[in-house]
Amino acid sequence: MSKQKGIGVARIATCICGNLRATCADEPQKVSLCHCFACQRRTGSVFGIAAFFHREAVRVEGSSRCYTRPSDSGFPVRFHFCPSCGSTVFWEPQRKPELIAVAVGAFADPAFPAPVQAVYAEHRHPWVEDPIG
Ligand SMILES: [Zn+2]
Ligand SMILES: [Zn+2]
Repeated sequence: MSKQKGIGVARIATCICGNLRATCADEPQKVSLCHCFACQRRTGSVFGIAAFFHREAVRVEGSSRCYTRPSDSGFPVRFHFCPSCGSTVFWEPQRKPELIAVAVGAFADPAFPAPVQAVYAEHRHPWVEDPIG
């Protein structure tokens, strides 16, 4: 985590090869954990976790490719991933166009704020403790 004067806290999310970067110059509006199968397949892990930022607080650098999938809200979600290493770094939920979701794992920062909600609990693997309680 790096700090920049004047804009408060700034955190940088990157793909594993470093090509695709999202610099987030604000605290997240919300951190949300998702147990849904789409997040399980996207991440290869058993849940996904997103930090939602106001769009104007996020600066993106590097090339990316897009994958758009529908969501249960009826609005598609556009996922941006690195064409070299495949990591998804951020996505755009069309239901909330003023926000950008950034993959919390891409910050590689154990001090990152914890999730405040967990959704799709019906798909939670039973050995995963409910992180919200
Ligand atoms: Zn990459
Ligand atoms: Zn999900």
